Amino acid sequence: MTQAPELPARIGDLVGPVIRDLTRRSGHDLTRWLQQVHRLGGCREPIRLTGHTHTLDTHTGEILGHYTTYAEPHGQLLFRCGNRRATRCPACAEVYRRDTFHLIRSGLLGGDKGVPETVRTHPRVFATLTAPSFGPVHRGPGKDGQAVICHPRRTGPACFERHAAGDPCIGQPLDPGTYDYVGHVLWNAHAGNLWRRFTIYLRRHLAASAGLTRKDFDRMVRVSFAKVAEFQARGVVHFHAVIRLDGRSDEGVIPPPAWATVDLLTDAIRTAVTAVRLDAPDLGQPTRHLVWGEQVDVRPIDPGDLHDGQHLSERAVAAYVAKYATKAAETSGTLDRRVKLRDLLQAPRAGRLRARGPAHPYRLDAG
Ligand SMILES: [Zn+2]
Ligand SMILES: [Zn+2]
Repeated sequence: MTQAPELPARIGDLVGPVIRDLTRRSGHDLTRWLQQVHRLGGCREPIRLTGHTHTLDTHTGEILGHYTTYAEPHGQLLFRCGNRRATRCPACAEVYRRDTFHLIRSGLLGGDKGVPETVRTHPRVFATLTAPSFGPVHRGPGKDGQAVICHPRRTGPACFERHAAGDPCIGQPLDPGTYDYVGHVLWNAHAGNLWRRFTIYLRRHLAASAGLTRKDFDRMVRVSFAKVAEFQARGVVHFHAVIRLDGRSDEGVIPPPAWATVDLLTDAIRTAVTAVRLDAPDLGQPTRHLVWGEQVDVRPIDPGDLHDGQHLSERAVAAYVAKYATKAAETSGTLDRRVKLRDLLQAPRAGRLRARGPAHPYRLDAG
């Protein structure tokens, strides 16, 4: 039996309700509605506000103005949701990505947002901090896109396949029986804290290598970070960060003292990473101390546009950070929100899961 081809919806069926709605919004209502829609810039889930405000003269108590959403189309004032995750609202995430790009770019190139162009001479690096291993996982193609033999080992779990990109088994444990799932989950849960400790230790190690007390160091040098979290295929986060050294001044961004070099910063990052250690709650898992993985990559950011295996250009770094500022866990095929116990106990209903997502992955913290 052949099935009738599915016909596209008749245009009349779609236009009818639209025309009816537009007719209802005639005159002032329609103009205001168009204004609101224009301002939303394609936001997928605008916030609908209802209520009223009074503007008062704080001295006399006189009411200077009054606004109510009652007069708005549908009695609602619409605002952009401002969600930075591309899976939730592509339009708002795009605004966030562009803002982030310009923020990072001006932090690297200067000449904008109150940052002088001399910032290009400051020591700045692009660092990648990873999680340790919780057990071997299936590997995807190498950085050059070349498929590699997954885990050719004689003893223990092995895999002799060459997994192509997109193979769903990439990132999955080779041996689910011995993989430290609990350690993995605890590490992700404490990743923010590990990062916070790292920033504290970095300042300490920088001060020590400069032969200064922490207090004196803080008086002379400011360490700025712009970091993003990226999910690896194995479902564990790693961090990319732009780290820059400035001199301390009330007059804005000034060069740091001459002893604050890229080499000093690079060495301090490496020693600070190895010094961080958090005790994990004992749930019977093999991983008892949460530490950073051994893979630490620190690369100086070069002034200019040259970008290849050895050089990292300012623009490329800004684009990379901005891209990952709008991506969350969904990039590794998992959820872009927290899983709550309630979700597991109740059958999820579409549109009911409004849990907040992971903590803000992008933060500029200067201290
Ligand atoms: Zn939105
Ligand atoms: Zn494999």
